Amino acid sequence: MYSSVLKSPAPYAEAGHALGNHTFTHPNLIFCSETQTRIQLAECNRAIEDAAGQTPRLFRPPFGGRRPSTLRIASELGFAPVMWNVTALIGTPHSSEAVERKVAKQIHGGDIILLHDGSHRQLGLDRSHTVAATDRLVGRYKAEGYEFVTIPEMLVSPNM
Ligand SMILES: [Zn+2]
Repeated sequence: MYSSVLKSPAPYAEAGHALGNHTFTHPNLIFCSETQTRIQLAECNRAIEDAAGQTPRLFRPPFGGRRPSTLRIASELGFAPVMWNVTALIGTPHSSEAVERKVAKQIHGGDIILLHDGSHRQLGLDRSHTVAATDRLVGRYKAEGYEFVTIPEMLVSPNM
């Protein structure tokens, strides 16, 4: 169960963000039953709908953990699964400079970058270094001519 914090639609869509389902309690879905997986996706969707006023159609499994049944369930529920090819999570860097260095080594263009907001294992940790690194990475790569798009935009782009 969840409690709602926001009662009016948040301006995520107006700001150009795409929202996705990442489960309700962040379990590794490899170890979840089909029923548990369906509950995780449904409860997360309800929370996002309540907070943001829109129904997510993207789904990223926590830890990337998925089985064929996970993807079948996601598909049945109308989700497009999204994975990533660039991440700063390996080794869990604890400074914005370390996050930026790890990501910069992996960027080639056409990438999906996973920048988890803090630790992916514990809620409530300091997320400021990831936020600062994201700001610097966006500025740096825009200056080099890279374009940042949402996952839905990327999925329909003829250049990707
Ligand atoms: Zn996560």
